[in-house]
Amino acid sequence: MTCAVISHPDCFKHDMGSHHPERPERLSAIEDQLIASGVGQYLTRLEAPLATDEQLTRVHPLDYVRAIRDVAPESGTVHLDPDTAMNPFTLQAALRAAGAAVLAVDLVMNKKTSAAFAAVRPPGHHACRARPMGFCIFNNVAVAARHAIAAHGLERVAIIDFDVHHGNGTEDIFEDDPGVLMVSTFQHPFYPYSGTEAPARNMVNVPLAAGSGSREFREAVREAWLPALDAFAPELILFSAGFDAHVEDDMAMLRLVDGDYAWVTAQMKDVADRHAGGRMVSMLEGGYALSALGRSVVQHLRVLAGLSGP
Ligand SMILES: [Zn+2]
Repeated sequence: MTCAVISHPDCFKHDMGSHHPERPERLSAIEDQLIASGVGQYLTRLEAPLATDEQLTRVHPLDYVRAIRDVAPESGTVHLDPDTAMNPFTLQAALRAAGAAVLAVDLVMNKKTSAAFAAVRPPGHHACRARPMGFCIFNNVAVAARHAIAAHGLERVAIIDFDVHHGNGTEDIFEDDPGVLMVSTFQHPFYPYSGTEAPARNMVNVPLAAGSGSREFREAVREAWLPALDAFAPELILFSAGFDAHVEDDMAMLRLVDGDYAWVTAQMKDVADRHAGGRMVSMLEGGYALSALGRSVVQHLRVLAGLSGP
């Protein structure tokens, strides 16, 4: 079994300011831990292509894609919302992040690798159909899902979102879409304060109270996610892989540890093996405590690459 890691130098150049938590050093921290752990040598490295308008407009209206292109600055910084900004490299980074989603799906669907991880930024799961939000511009995991359906003819795709924040953008895009099942856990009540009020039938949202840790998380996966996933029988597993529910991450107040990321990945790998020919694609979302982020990604990748179980 092989796993590809997709990234691009442009994703390191997107910078929203020296005090912004969603910073280029996040990708460096992942690289450092891949080297330190020895896992990096088992991974196939690829550069992300630019997403095309055809690929983006399966998720976002063309007017939105054009507006993002038009607002991209040639110098300085432009704010899209209080948390989300563009510098002169952001547009390219965002197009690479969404392009990584497309390449990752192509790799696993064409049996080049059985799994692929996109180490990209900006992240995507707060980006709604026509609204940037919460560090996100294009919804990368949604681009992956729609590409799998439109270009590879899949009928059922599952999105697994274990970021500490509710993936409101992904829900906005896929609510009531019978081809997509989304399962998620998130701290609640917490930003973006959504996900619990009458979620759509294809959303399995499990809110977790501040202070919840491994026990509550694993219970949610076993009792809510797994039955829904087995009933849905996805042909592809996509991860919105945010690592900000880690106990060391100050962004929020959940208490997951490194081993939880290996565990949940192994659970989802079993689902992928049962229903999806083992196909898994993972998109980086949050994770702001640099050491914990790098270590947790290594745990996730060890399982994606078949190097170890939890
Ligand atoms: Zn997050």
